[in-house]
Amino acid sequence: MDFALAPEDQKFADELRAWLDSHLPPFLEKEVIDDEARLSGDASQKRRAAWQRELNTDRWAAIHWPEEFGGRAATASQRVLASQIMAEYRTPGMFNTNGLWQIGPMIITWGTDEQKDRWLPSILEADDHWCQGFSEPQAGNDLSNLRTMAILEPDSGDYIVNGQKIWISTAHIAKWGLFLMRTDPTAIERGAKHEGITAFIIDMKTPGIECRPIRDMAGEEMFNEVFFTDARIPANCRLGGEGEGWNVAMGTLGFERVGIAGQLSLLGADLRAMVEVARTVNPDALDDPSIQDRIARCWTEIELARLLSLRALSRIIKGEKPWPEVQFAKLSWSSLAQSLSELAVDMLGPAGALTRGGPDAVDRGKWSRLYSFQRYSSIGGGSTEVQKDIIADRAIKLPGRSRAS
Ligand SMILES: Cc1cc2nc3c(=O)[nH]c(=O)nc-3n(C[C@H](O)[C@H](O)[C@H](O)COP(=O)(O)OP(=O)(O)OC[C@H]3O[C@@H](n4cnc5c(N)ncnc54)[C@H](O)[C@@H]3O)c2cc1C
Repeated sequence: MDFALAPEDQKFADELRAWLDSHLPPFLEKEVIDDEARLSGDASQKRRAAWQRELNTDRWAAIHWPEEFGGRAATASQRVLASQIMAEYRTPGMFNTNGLWQIGPMIITWGTDEQKDRWLPSILEADDHWCQGFSEPQAGNDLSNLRTMAILEPDSGDYIVNGQKIWISTAHIAKWGLFLMRTDPTAIERGAKHEGITAFIIDMKTPGIECRPIRDMAGEEMFNEVFFTDARIPANCRLGGEGEGWNVAMGTLGFERVGIAGQLSLLGADLRAMVEVARTVNPDALDDPSIQDRIARCWTEIELARLLSLRALSRIIKGEKPWPEVQFAKLSWSSLAQSLSELAVDMLGPAGALTRGGPDAVDRGKWSRLYSFQRYSSIGGGSTEVQKDIIADRAIKLPGRSRAS
């Protein structure tokens, strides 16, 4: 593989760096946040919205959207470059990652002109927050098992929705959500679980929708149960045709997967940052050979995972399926994310284990929060066990296993 950047990619990277050099420092000076460790806090969300708007002034918010919708039509390699550069600069988070990365592209692909005009500007401008509602108590890894019903009422032309979603991130602050519902109640019984699923864009303030935040082990209330009781959804909120929801969803998850490369860049930036903090708060740890060994191991594994994701990228560029590299990269990322957060609390000493609120907590409790939060990395985006099953069956073709998939 050729590691040199193509001239157009080099130009893209130079332009983004120059933009960040001139826009990021004044933004950080103006938009200070008291409680940076809180993902769902109001102040944090306002700052994220302000940063997204700042990026959008020069079309850096949705770089992969077509130019006519406010993007830059960035290629897969430019998307990876952008996420690496953003990680290198440690830019603030975005307000509408779901909307920008997954839902916007789906509206562009599947939406009517009226739907594009109605929703794309609000995603881009950070006017409204968006969530993604797929999982249910009986439908996680096996998403096709979802059972929340949306039944068309012929007289009104509305869909009447009943059922329950769970683990829906930021649903409690979202104005809109992309949801998958079952419009054919017979599909599961017929053994055709992937059929009869339809995508809807739902106004979260609709009567009959109730969000109940779930407190996670890091003490945040970031994700929610969402209950639907006879909620009335207008037909013009259906995205794609009836029964096309599975294809809409797979497109959405496809966009999610490319995001792993960016997550790896963030891990590298985190490792550099935690070593810097240790120099101040617990310098002796850096002389401990076992800590030195763990730092070197993490660094090497980040580099290996980065090369793996570049191999996946080069397959995408050639028009091939990035298989099985994407599965391996997901596994490497999730185990690395957890090893790194464990290294952080060990390396930063007792103060590194303190949580937000304590006057001595290092970086306002950021590292101890990460320690709990990173448990999610072996569940979200395809759980570790299921990824290993897929690799065992389809890549290694281990003997003695059924080839059901
Ligand atoms: C932080 C976080 C944010 C999330 N945000 C969202 C969101 O915004 N929207 C949304 O729709 N969902 C969201 N989710 C839900 C996420 O997509 C699901 O948790 C995920 O799909 C796993 O489903 P599940 O929790 O039902 O686990 P299950 O699928 O029930 O799995 C439970 C356990 O069984 C194992 N298992 C399951 N099937 C197999 C098998 N065939 N072989 C071997 N082992 C198996 C799994 O590996 C796992 O260990 C979020 C989850 C987290 C942790």
